[in-house]
Amino acid sequence: MFEGPVQDLIDELGRLPGIGPKSAQRIAFHLLAADPADVGRLVEVLERVKQGVRFCEVCGNVSEKDRCRYCADARRDATLVCVVEEPKDVLAVERTREFRGRYHVLGGALDPLAGVGPDQLRIRQLVSRIGGTGPAEDETAIAEIIIATDPNTEGEATATYLLRLLRDFPGLTVSRLASGLPMGGDLEFADELTLGRALSGRRAM
Ligand SMILES: [Zn+2]
Repeated sequence: MFEGPVQDLIDELGRLPGIGPKSAQRIAFHLLAADPADVGRLVEVLERVKQGVRFCEVCGNVSEKDRCRYCADARRDATLVCVVEEPKDVLAVERTREFRGRYHVLGGALDPLAGVGPDQLRIRQLVSRIGGTGPAEDETAIAEIIIATDPNTEGEATATYLLRLLRDFPGLTVSRLASGLPMGGDLEFADELTLGRALSGRRAM
């Protein structure tokens, strides 16, 4: 244990994902030795990112305005909505250039052991959108939901839950990405070609 602010810094850094105690210590001492101007820039972007970035009121994607660029883009097909876990998955789907619809970002996947149930995800907001009572009253009725959760245990559980929840909506097609994505991974790690094929080869459930 170090004293005062140094230990506080190590503790805070250690709470970041993927940073263990040793890395936290290394980063903390790097910052202590760094040029004040460099640290100042880091502090500034941290503040900016918390003040300036919001979440899209419609889909939950990160956004600088009330609506993200996909929800605000009238050329994108509002009848087709791709459901993903995280904003980074939106980027993964965009990279395929196969998708011209809109998105819905859940904010994670079901993981009961970690205390993540349906209420912790943006599932209620998805149901509102499908039911036509979401924030985008101008939104055309959603005709198809593509479930594109990660190909791992939590993603599969989330997909199964959504399928059960959504299958009784009249006139709604619910589809899933075609198989072929490497199991156990994240959507973002799939290469563009594989993910693009999984999108275009999606199956209605
Ligand atoms: Zn949006």
